[in-house]
Amino acid sequence: MFLTHAHIDHIGRVPELIQEGFRGEILCTHGTKALIGPMLEDALEFTAYHQDKKEKIMSDIEDMTWGFEYGESFNLRKGIRFSMGRAGHILGSCWIRFDMDGGSSIVFSGDLGAKHTPILPAPDVPEPCDLLVMESTYGDRNHEDRTMRWQRLGEVLFKALADNGKVLIPAFALGRTQELIYEMDRLFSGHHKTSLKSKIPVFIDSPLGLKITKIYSKLTEYWDKEAIGLLQKGDHPIDFNHLYSVERHTDHLKLLEYPGPAIIVAGSGMCAGGRIIEHLKHGIGNPKTDIFFVGYQARGTLGRRIIECISDKDSQVIIAEKSYPVRAAVYRLTGYSAHADQQELLAWAKAIRPGHIKLVHGEPMAQKALKTKISLMQ
Ligand SMILES: [Zn+2]
Repeated sequence: MFLTHAHIDHIGRVPELIQEGFRGEILCTHGTKALIGPMLEDALEFTAYHQDKKEKIMSDIEDMTWGFEYGESFNLRKGIRFSMGRAGHILGSCWIRFDMDGGSSIVFSGDLGAKHTPILPAPDVPEPCDLLVMESTYGDRNHEDRTMRWQRLGEVLFKALADNGKVLIPAFALGRTQELIYEMDRLFSGHHKTSLKSKIPVFIDSPLGLKITKIYSKLTEYWDKEAIGLLQKGDHPIDFNHLYSVERHTDHLKLLEYPGPAIIVAGSGMCAGGRIIEHLKHGIGNPKTDIFFVGYQARGTLGRRIIECISDKDSQVIIAEKSYPVRAAVYRLTGYSAHADQQELLAWAKAIRPGHIKLVHGEPMAQKALKTKISLMQ
């Protein structure tokens, strides 16, 4: 089994597969191998498996998983070689190429990252292949310019913190949390006009987000030139001195009573659970609170419901069966997708010059739009 990256929609059913008897090898990059442990441990908390069973599954996964380097070719079995390239989506993410004796080749894109993703280099381009199996999440859309994104974040933070209240940012633990820390590190380092002058405390109130941030911090060989340059200058790009880890539940409870000003990053990204829920209960009725959404909010989630309140002044939301008035200011910050947009997907596919393309991982509308563009390209 090959894994392209450690997002839960790509690895979430690995435990079930092992439970059902899978005993093969699991192949991925070293970065993905480091991340699947904490991601799956967290996911297993939501299952009915007994604790002993969870531990057994996790140790089986550890034993069965092999990490590989980017850019090298390995023998899978007689007649088939494989290699992995940088996909620029999250730490350790890769596309996978298979070369068969006789000359035919297939590339699987996995989730492909967007350009200017903080911390990570842009995706590598594989050599030409016969078949390209490519994701198409944003096949029908283009992102806005991301180079100025951290400055836009600075401007909204500056305004939001003027009343000394709290800023709540629901964020996914893997990828988005580290990108936000990186951007806040830039903002607090004082090199830009939108820099935040005072050292407002930033709390990462997410045990999983903290575990993953530690892995991101350690695996510097996966960083881009900009992040490495900052580290060499003595500025660790995913750490600053008023960034606080909230690990223990008792500290989480204390933080709920903290008056502000403060920036709190907590999961889950769509407010479907996690520590953000208690922060919302405490803060959503307070006009001094600001809530920033930096990711997609699926229909039916609390996050989506709160966003709908932007255009509805006297609105209420239900959190854990209780109704709360929405008096907090709610913002939607754009440009935070971890996926390549239509232009980037097309440019990447064009550079590979595949014989055929199969589109996967996208809504029918997105695939249709991308298919039309591809047929014009060929
Ligand atoms: Zn992904």
